[in-house]
Amino acid sequence: MSAVIQRESAADGLISFDPATGEEVGRVPIDSPEDVHSAVERSREVFHKWKTTSFAERKALIMSAREVILADIDGIAKLISAESGKPFGEAIAMEIAPVLDLMQWIARGAEKMLKPRRVGIGLYGLLGRSSKIIYKPYGVVGIIPAWNYPFSIPLGETVMAVMAGNSVVMKPSELTPLVGEKIGEIFKKAGAPDGLVRIVHGAGEAGAALVEAPPDKVMFTGSVATGKRIAKVAAQNLTSTVLELGGKDPMIVFEDANLKLAAGGAVWGAFCNAGQSCSSVERLYVHESVADELTRLIVEKVKQMKQGRGDSEDVSIGPMSSERQLQIVEDHVAAFREAGAKIETGGRNADIPVRHSEDADKNIRVPLFYEPTVISGATNDMRPMQEETFGPTLPIATFKTEAEAIALANDSEFGLTASVWTRDYAKGRRVAEQIECGSVCINEVLYTHGLGQTPWGGFKNSGRGRTHGIEGLMELVQPQHIHTNRISIVPNAWWMPYTPTAVETFRGFATKFASGSMLKAATIAPQLSKRIRELLRR
Ligand code: NDP
Repeated sequence: MSAVIQRESAADGLISFDPATGEEVGRVPIDSPEDVHSAVERSREVFHKWKTTSFAERKALIMSAREVILADIDGIAKLISAESGKPFGEAIAMEIAPVLDLMQWIARGAEKMLKPRRVGIGLYGLLGRSSKIIYKPYGVVGIIPAWNYPFSIPLGETVMAVMAGNSVVMKPSELTPLVGEKIGEIFKKAGAPDGLVRIVHGAGEAGAALVEAPPDKVMFTGSVATGKRIAKVAAQNLTSTVLELGGKDPMIVFEDANLKLAAGGAVWGAFCNAGQSCSSVERLYVHESVADELTRLIVEKVKQMKQGRGDSEDVSIGPMSSERQLQIVEDHVAAFREAGAKIETGGRNADIPVRHSEDADKNIRVPLFYEPTVISGATNDMRPMQEETFGPTLPIATFKTEAEAIALANDSEFGLTASVWTRDYAKGRRVAEQIECGSVCINEVLYTHGLGQTPWGGFKNSGRGRTHGIEGLMELVQPQHIHTNRISIVPNAWWMPYTPTAVETFRGFATKFASGSMLKAATIAPQLSKRIRELLRR
């Protein structure tokens, strides 16, 4: 059992700790609710200038921010690793590389995606009307990310918000404030206007103050419980929200799958970032005929992984990032044991010797290592098969038929991602389309958040709205409809005063004009002309 760690927020700032060593990484000043409200007000002033910039200017800023990141990849990865515990290489692969790709894609493509577009309005076009949609930025976007991908998630959202013409106020998690600071610094170095991207700090209260301020849009990533709280507060001001919440993502392995690949996918999908990914594999369903073989392959691979402090290049699994999360893992493993599931490997805190720096002071905290844990004999009626674990556990259950596999996968309040493993692509697609999740991969797992071109978001309790892709960009703008009448020389037939001739014309609208058929619509021309003459006489 790990020791309870007190979260320290000293008068002189919010302290950030390395979860592998317990040592302090740094500290930042805490913003009061009043500071947060004033940050939103000042951000709104910057927005009014920024919204007038051209796409070329915005693109130049984002491409320059990319250069700032490229010049310091190792430094940024070390900071991410120190604050979150994830291996240094994983910070490059899963945080820095994907966000760099997202940045170039959105910088180059936003103008085209947000280009004003004409909308066909059917027969109204014959009456000289036309409709155009233009996209206007919301204003101040409040970003509240979780601690698990402290760089790529908030930076990706910030970049998309800024490209759409918004300003940003972001409150990083209290566990990863320095990575949040780094994002602000990147924009400063890239030459962003003062205050275009503001970072405010504090624990949950600072996040609550940001929602209450209110900004014009809230982009939240975190737990279902906090998401619901935020939605309630945002509703008071009718603030629009995107909620990216938890997951309990299933992986289905059919008997015809390449089992070696599936085992590798399961291990990476379940244990990267010590299982603290919203889209990590939290439930594995395997056909009963290959369950023993797949479990053996998975356990073999897990035993080859080195666990330790994330700053070594040969470490595959680091510590967990938070004490609270570690306690959930301990509880879930105990519940699996009690329910009769078998712990194949792991199932306990890992005893990892850690080097402390010489100047480590009294603030040293307990490191949060938990062994990667593979559990067989799991069934959906076991409590941890329904609750999000968000840690290094991989429970394995079996199925007999395709229909059963789909039903087991859908038996969850969550619906973020899923994966299906088979050599039969038709079956893969058939099964994927029946799974109630925002993203489903066939012979792939977890990484699609890294495809910035595709929409990201969940069904059911996994969230509302989307980030990434054109769908995510559309969350950051409001469509404005501009409607023009180019033959404004006669009154409209539907204007007042209403008369028997008007009502007869309206019947014609309902039965003929609204049919969508030009031939039918043409038959009401005499009645229409009678009605217009009537209006002109008045
Ligand atoms: P929390 O809900 O605890 O916190 C998320 C963020 O909200 C943090 O920045 C937190 O600040 C802040 N916060 C806490 N209370 C409030 C409040 N009342 N008002 C406003 N903001 C508040 O989640 P975790 O940080 O523990 O993140 C883990 C969860 O995130 C998991 O469920 C995971 O699945 C989900 N997640 C979802 C993703 C997705 O794309 N769907 C991606 C990544 C994670 P502080 O940390 O300082 O308390």
